[in-house]
Amino acid sequence: MNVMQETSALMNVAARPPVIFERGEGSWLFDTSGRRYLDFIQGWAVNALGHCPDTITEVLAEQGRRLISPSPAFFNDKSAALAQFLAEKSCCDQAFFTSSGAEANEGAIKLARKYGSLHRGGAYEIVTFDGGFHGRTLATMSASGKPAFAPLFEPKVPGFPKARLNDIDSVLAAITDKTVAVMLEPIQGEAGVVPATARFLQDLRTLTRDKGLLLILDEVQTGIGRTGALFAYEHAGIEPDIMTLGKGIGGGVPLGAVLAQSHASCFQHGDQGGTYSGNPLMCAVGLAVARRVAEDGFLAGVRDKGRHLVDALEALGRRHGLGGVRGAGLLLALDLGKPVSSEVAKRAFDAGLLLNAPRPDTLRFMPALTVSTAEIDEMVAILEPIIASVR
Ligand code: PMP
Repeated sequence: MNVMQETSALMNVAARPPVIFERGEGSWLFDTSGRRYLDFIQGWAVNALGHCPDTITEVLAEQGRRLISPSPAFFNDKSAALAQFLAEKSCCDQAFFTSSGAEANEGAIKLARKYGSLHRGGAYEIVTFDGGFHGRTLATMSASGKPAFAPLFEPKVPGFPKARLNDIDSVLAAITDKTVAVMLEPIQGEAGVVPATARFLQDLRTLTRDKGLLLILDEVQTGIGRTGALFAYEHAGIEPDIMTLGKGIGGGVPLGAVLAQSHASCFQHGDQGGTYSGNPLMCAVGLAVARRVAEDGFLAGVRDKGRHLVDALEALGRRHGLGGVRGAGLLLALDLGKPVSSEVAKRAFDAGLLLNAPRPDTLRFMPALTVSTAEIDEMVAILEPIIASVR
């Protein structure tokens, strides 16, 4: 059977290359023919510690023998411990666990609407941003500002007026007496790694506080060390009322979280739930990943390797007349200056390198936080002749 026959029972929701992956190790993925690929996508910025690290496989085996799903109707030790750990390390006080980033954002949206019904006379609108990405449930697609989503699955969930990133006047213009919150990614990931400036985040914090609105940060892609800080909001010296996590917190397993400061943590019995919420198998992994990332020296290592990658990409850019590098830590993008990124990513795949092309002119780099500088150099060595040939 060829790959297309083997995969024909899967819904065809994305164009995928004709190989099947079966194994991963650190920064490397292996297909069924044994070919290896240097992975700078890492499950879409998910595998914080790389593929199949001992930290995760050991916890999965041990917790799998102890307890997997006692039901969210009962407390379990692992979800309580993970919530406690996140509360200690962040500005938030309480957590609700989910199985994905979209579900975490859906929960944040509900929490803000609940806050509006309790404290803001039924206000429910959440100002979100052009280019933003918050997930693929109906409400999170509606909150997203991804142009390709606009015509899909109408009618959308109402209540998500859009503003422009880094334009505080556009936020002011979108606020009405129905507004309860402003929600954004500290760095727009899917839009091509477009950072909110520290100044803009600070202005948003002041504005929302003055107007009694909640500030919700979607840290699904930026949280848990990806930008060189445990949470990206730390770079701007601000604190959100509500924050969502996903991706990195699970290090590859399905785990997300809505976190809130106590004044915003207003769910009452019956408002929120989910069969898998806080299951100890995923929370045990989340706890191990979060502890590892918070260990002394780990984040300094992310920042060092991020600088190494920036330097390497900027040097590559100078040699080939490319645009600049954007992002922070190990969430970076290279502007190719021309709409050739899909072709570059395709040729990189053929050469054994996994890269994402989020925009026609942009490559995104989201390696494991444990990537080595040698692997970064190897990535650039594979990429350089491809860039030379495509340009
Ligand atoms: N928010 C952001 C910022 C994301 O980057 C993503 C995924 N790319 C999501 C939410 C959705 O997460 P998930 O795919 O786990 O639902």
